[in-house]
Amino acid sequence: MSTRRPTGMISAPVFLEHDTGPGHVERPERLQAIFKALGSSALIRELEPGEAQPVAADHVLAVHANEHLETVRAAVNRARKEGRVALDPDTVVSERSLVAALSAVGAALAAGDAVVGGRWKNAFCAVRPPGHHAETNRAMGFCLFNNAALLARDLQERHDVERVAVLDWDVHHGNGTQEIFESDPSVLYVSLHQSPHWPGSGAASERGKGDGEGATLNLPLAPGTGDAEWLAALEKSALPAIEAFRPGAIVISAGFDAHERDPLSQTRVTTEGYRAMTRAVVDCAESVAGGKLISLLEGGYELSALAEAVLAHLEELNAAPR
Ligand SMILES: [Zn+2]
Repeated sequence: MSTRRPTGMISAPVFLEHDTGPGHVERPERLQAIFKALGSSALIRELEPGEAQPVAADHVLAVHANEHLETVRAAVNRARKEGRVALDPDTVVSERSLVAALSAVGAALAAGDAVVGGRWKNAFCAVRPPGHHAETNRAMGFCLFNNAALLARDLQERHDVERVAVLDWDVHHGNGTQEIFESDPSVLYVSLHQSPHWPGSGAASERGKGDGEGATLNLPLAPGTGDAEWLAALEKSALPAIEAFRPGAIVISAGFDAHERDPLSQTRVTTEGYRAMTRAVVDCAESVAGGKLISLLEGGYELSALAEAVLAHLEELNAAPR
């Protein structure tokens, strides 16, 4: 009898209620496009679905300042009267944004529980708002709470995973995740991102601080680069660094906005490029982390490209171990 464990996929209806307003690129239709594509794919019968529940608000204090939580809470309270409130020109909340953001964290933590607990071989969380720009004390770039950082800490604190690697292939540098862990040698942060590009951080010279020096690896990629350059950065630099770090689990900050059709970048990664990148990370996870891989949606703003790339990503997660 085969006891093949499934790939889990967590989402929640509340993610559609985080209302960023008309014309905002980080919109509910992103998740709807993913689910529409998945619904017409045979893959949906193989994935095990999970519905995210919100964590208690004080869970976010594992990586965020209380002042930051209060800022988000106050903005969401104001949004009950005003409809929407902007924390900065990019980062907008509506009255349901706090429960959505806490549910995005809940999705990540539940995926961690299921993967580390052995129920799922790996997992993908289709969440919004995204997280990797959120710093200790600042919402930024559509992000309220840092889902990947909170998952990494939770794996350490509740599951005794000593070392966690966060691989961030969103086209934007994950300034928040880097800032949260820059002095921490127990979390390796590796980022592939377009440079020069917003938010401007993520130079190769940024390698961590103090005890964390060497546990940050930035791999900036020029505008115009595509599958060959991104895969080479992954296979020649990112994955060897992760292998040398010997993490107990790998978290992917999975943005799909380096896609050739994405409006927020000048890079040219294709859907097949994301498939190949996923396969390479799956193999890396098999060799160093017992396959334990949890992928969290970050960016990706061209709806059809996002849906295609997520589907390819899920197919490769589901194919593990090869
Ligand atoms: Zn991005």
